[in-house]
Amino acid sequence: MADTIFGKIARGEIPTEFLYEDDRAVAFRDVNPQAPVHVLIIPREPITRLSATGDDRAELLGHLLGVARKVAAQEGLEDFRLVVNDGAGAGQTVFHLHLHVLGGRPLGWPPG
Ligand code: AMP
Repeated sequence: MADTIFGKIARGEIPTEFLYEDDRAVAFRDVNPQAPVHVLIIPREPITRLSATGDDRAELLGHLLGVARKVAAQEGLEDFRLVVNDGAGAGQTVFHLHLHVLGGRPLGWPPG
């Protein structure tokens, strides 16, 4: 797959403050926040998008959800939203799988 800016961030090639990191994932603030708290969680492995994964990635995907839970707690969020944009038609612009953690304001539904 083509390298992305998130690949560079995950490898430490672009200086970025990590709110959380372990051997499989890192979390950092979105550069263009859509809510008072807007954190991105990415696997270190360069997976393009959720629909490119198979059942062999179930453990990693579960891990990313656990990281989201930890980051939300760390940010003091009682309520929050997780978003995965899968594909350009759904708003995906960076083709390195990422979870958006959004919170800190009332979040309307349905989303745009
Ligand atoms: P998506 O549209 O779901 O692919 O989300 C990509 C997100 O990455 C957007 O919310 C951007 O604001 C964010 N973004 C792009 N470049 C960076 C960067 N260098 N650091 C942090 N967030 C970024």
